[in-house]
Amino acid sequence: MKIRTRFAPSPTGYLHVGGARTALFSWLLARKAGGQFVLRIEDTDRERSTQAAVDAILQGMDWLGLDYDEGPFYQTDRYDRYNEVIQELLEDGHAYYCNCSKELLAQMREQQMQAGVKPRYDRRCRDLNIKPDQSGDCVVRFKTPLGGSVIFNDLIRGHIEIKNTELDDLIIARSDGSPTYNLTVAVDDNDMAISHVVRGEDHISNTPKQIHLLNAIGAQIPQYAHVPMILGEDGKRLSKRHGAVSVLQYREEGYLAEALINYLVRLGWSAGDKEIFSRNEMIDLFEIENVNKAGSIFNPEKLLWLNQLYIKEGDEQFLANELQTHFTAMGVDTSEGPALAKVIAAYREREKTLKDIAQSSVYLFQEIGVYDEKAVKKCFGEKALQPLQAISSAFTELEDEMWTSENIKQTILQTAETLNVGMGKIGQPLRVALTGGSSSPSIEITIFLVGRKRTLQRIADAIAMIQTQNSP
Ligand code: GLU
Repeated sequence: MKIRTRFAPSPTGYLHVGGARTALFSWLLARKAGGQFVLRIEDTDRERSTQAAVDAILQGMDWLGLDYDEGPFYQTDRYDRYNEVIQELLEDGHAYYCNCSKELLAQMREQQMQAGVKPRYDRRCRDLNIKPDQSGDCVVRFKTPLGGSVIFNDLIRGHIEIKNTELDDLIIARSDGSPTYNLTVAVDDNDMAISHVVRGEDHISNTPKQIHLLNAIGAQIPQYAHVPMILGEDGKRLSKRHGAVSVLQYREEGYLAEALINYLVRLGWSAGDKEIFSRNEMIDLFEIENVNKAGSIFNPEKLLWLNQLYIKEGDEQFLANELQTHFTAMGVDTSEGPALAKVIAAYREREKTLKDIAQSSVYLFQEIGVYDEKAVKKCFGEKALQPLQAISSAFTELEDEMWTSENIKQTILQTAETLNVGMGKIGQPLRVALTGGSSSPSIEITIFLVGRKRTLQRIADAIAMIQTQNSP
């Protein structure tokens, strides 16, 4: 069998981590089998679908590296096809027109509720052979088989059986002729030759309806895998209340796609106790049958931990390119300053996200706007003047070609020796002078990255500041 899977988001909101995990599982299933992965945008709910959401989905997929072989297909481009199938179902006797008014349906519902039975359409139009022109406001309903049951073997949840008596004669076309959700999904899964439907377990109740529709169309029934929900730490379904849930927001916050993917793959799936997976390892080891039935709890700290790990161990140049996007977003020009790969090397052990790296190292590319008040108070006393003046002269002597972190360190050591003070007496005010604050990588690396010209200028600025502050 040719393995073809799909991801079929409705563009009514951003791509959230739950959707991304479903997409990932579906993608892995296809990639592992050497099959195809299809992207289908289910945009028939025109009121709630937006172009911004479509863009967010496409960008999210792209960022996460979930490449698709076909699509994106848009359901709104396929209305003719849905209508064709609706007509066929009518002609084949699998569907019928129903002209029951809203009032009648409401009344029916009311009576059923009062009688304590599950409200559903009583099928009174099923055999009336109503023609659409007779009545005006007609919907098309599907003739759900009256007896028997639908059985399918969910790849995650196992045997599932639903009695047909539990099901309604569902509407497949509204009175304006537009197709309804289950009809479009069944038609598309068939037309797109989908072999495996991987989707959220909130769709489980749609599956029997879609199986009936697929049978009526004469289609092959795909295999289904309903992925459990992602929960917040309070056990409730993950939502905005729990913090960031949008995939693109993680990008903005400085997470790496690989870290997020690695986190998501482990959320409800495992291969022994392995935690860190490269893409290829995921593809090799993934088995949809090993996805847990139970919901998984989203743990932001673990994701952050993984992100830090990927920052520590990732390719320097790759991380540098990613870091550039954060500086660009911050409006910081990095053309005058150290190579970003060097910034990564200096900061990768210190920070957990790229955004944190960008924010902590922005002094390398921009003049210091505000100095940290505490640091100034502590390090810019009158006693700092002499060490700063001395180190400024020493750095003036250190030519551009000699500007290496090792030479910088030696210069500070020698100056400290000459002044007969500890290295900290020079290092601390120097750090505040160069960065505006009291925390940065080792002083020689910091100075090296700031560069000779900027270093001399910033020391001069600090000396002036100290003199003004301490003048009577
Ligand atoms: N469009 C549905 C959603 O976004 C998914 C439908 C499906 O995968 O069958 O929840």
